Amino acid sequence: MNYMQKDENILLHVCCGPCSTSSIERLLSEGWRPVLYFSNSNIDTEEEFEKRYAELLKVAKANDLEVLKDHYDHPSWRSAVSGYEKEREGGERCSKCFAFNLERAYMKARELGITHFTTTLTVSRFKNSARIFAIGEGYEGFEKIDFKKKDGFNRSIVLSREMGLYRQNYCGCEFSKKERSDSAETV
Ligand code: SF4
Repeated sequence: MNYMQKDENILLHVCCGPCSTSSIERLLSEGWRPVLYFSNSNIDTEEEFEKRYAELLKVAKANDLEVLKDHYDHPSWRSAVSGYEKEREGGERCSKCFAFNLERAYMKARELGITHFTTTLTVSRFKNSARIFAIGEGYEGFEKIDFKKKDGFNRSIVLSREMGLYRQNYCGCEFSKKERSDSAETV
């Protein structure tokens, strides 16, 4: 498909199906035509990567949108966060992780000739939107859209339930999974 010279096109980096729901709804309501890009080598296993991708396909189909999938390259992601493994969720490891995924989204947008891109990462109430923006604005064409605003997080929960989507209980990487299971053990 030729995306050149269509100013309403925007490449949307998608972390998972549930977070994509309200982000897509908002982008469409604001006149954008999103091209979905699933690029998440931060996810701990390829099985989980595929599971989350399958949920995104349901959302894409419901909205009649194209979805593109990056290859899974967890070793490269591990190199990118090397030295920060012991950081808690929300710390510097997450900044490295955001940068890793945003770089790939930027490269894909350039490859396709799409001049705008953004990310669903800002939907999560566990993620600092200002920090994501600070990283994203280093790339030409990054749109600072805070999907938490306009009740985006709660809306994503409602829409995910309506669609019967799988909602994972950890962010993605093996460290976030362990942190979540450790905290559950102490409850
Ligand atoms: S907790 Fe989430 S954002 Fe942070 S490094 Fe892990 S996968 Fe990335």
